[in-house]
Amino acid sequence: MSNHIYLDYNATTPVAPEAVDAMTPWFNERFWNAASAHPLGAMANDAVETARQQVADLIGAHPNEIVFTSGSTESINLALKGVLSAAPDRTGIVTAATEHKAVLDTVAWLAEQGASTCVLPVDASGQIDLELFAGSMNEHTAVVSIMAANNETGVIANLAGPVDAARRYGALVHTDATQAVGRINFDVEHSDVDLASISAHKIYGPKGVGALYVRRGVRIDATVHGGGHEHNMRSGTLNVAGIVGFGAAAELAAKQRDDDAERSTQLTAQLVAGLVAQLSDVEVISESAPRLPNTVNVRFAGADAEAVMVNAPTIAVSSGSACTSMVPHPSHVLTAMGMSADEASECLRFSTGRPTTDESITEAVTALVSAVTRVRELTR
Ligand code: PLP
Repeated sequence: MSNHIYLDYNATTPVAPEAVDAMTPWFNERFWNAASAHPLGAMANDAVETARQQVADLIGAHPNEIVFTSGSTESINLALKGVLSAAPDRTGIVTAATEHKAVLDTVAWLAEQGASTCVLPVDASGQIDLELFAGSMNEHTAVVSIMAANNETGVIANLAGPVDAARRYGALVHTDATQAVGRINFDVEHSDVDLASISAHKIYGPKGVGALYVRRGVRIDATVHGGGHEHNMRSGTLNVAGIVGFGAAAELAAKQRDDDAERSTQLTAQLVAGLVAQLSDVEVISESAPRLPNTVNVRFAGADAEAVMVNAPTIAVSSGSACTSMVPHPSHVLTAMGMSADEASECLRFSTGRPTTDESITEAVTALVSAVTRVRELTR
């Protein structure tokens, strides 16, 4: 094991032992293809259907409404491209500037293909303005895409307003629920969305597996064509082991969600209290907005976040900057909330997970206090 303190569970989580155990036989002893007509194929198919039920249960869906994919990126692509392709008389798509790149880049691509797209600004706490939102919609709007919880700030959206506005114009609602699922009680009936993207590796399942929730009666065209798997919505031989692991992780998440949330609330509070007690000019981003219990984004004014990470090399956190061609860019989420590029580059995102301990938070605080102090001294 490394001596790192991992506080980056929004990037990915370890696979829960229960999920590893459930998956293991499906790699080798039970390597069968779930689409095969023989009894071994039927056994693989049964395992997939059990997982489908487990994933559906986690979000309050019916198993027939779950389409397995390779993760949220693919689910988002399928949802947005699939809706626009299936509704040629509707060409509009509305989203917000703080969405994950999987949404924003898909929307940008759709714009290049002729869709009329609208990427709405947000306020300083990361929330969308409902009036602006409703004003951006019309009878040509096919779909709106608003994330259930932001991966960088943890801000939880109130989906009721967007859903209401979408219904008035007959548009569908997609939510990127990647970070919300398993962390808060995200339920498709309660949130009343038509489509939701989720990913196994954020909830202690394996990487490379996810699902798209497609409400019964909602029509989307496939983006991957082939053998007609997943009700013709996503062709390709099913990743049986991965799906079984996703199912086991989903079942565990449903059982542990409240305990996990309580624990992560304590840990993030401990982290913030420790930092605030020992450092000046520490700001919690979107402090008063509803946020995921495990996520806290902190600005250390006067200390560049990348430099803090270099000076605290054992702390695995995210600076929120997308690194393209080796050139770090300030977070598009934070700049969309009105921060300057310089302010945004002073922010670090901390996200706790099941393995995080009180001791590791205490150690992280000590390392961060010394790193921030050093960076501030060097750049003063
Ligand atoms: N959406 C959000 C909010 C995310 O945090 C992520 C992953 O970081 C994704 C989408 C993409 O998920 P995946 O890695 O399953 O493709």
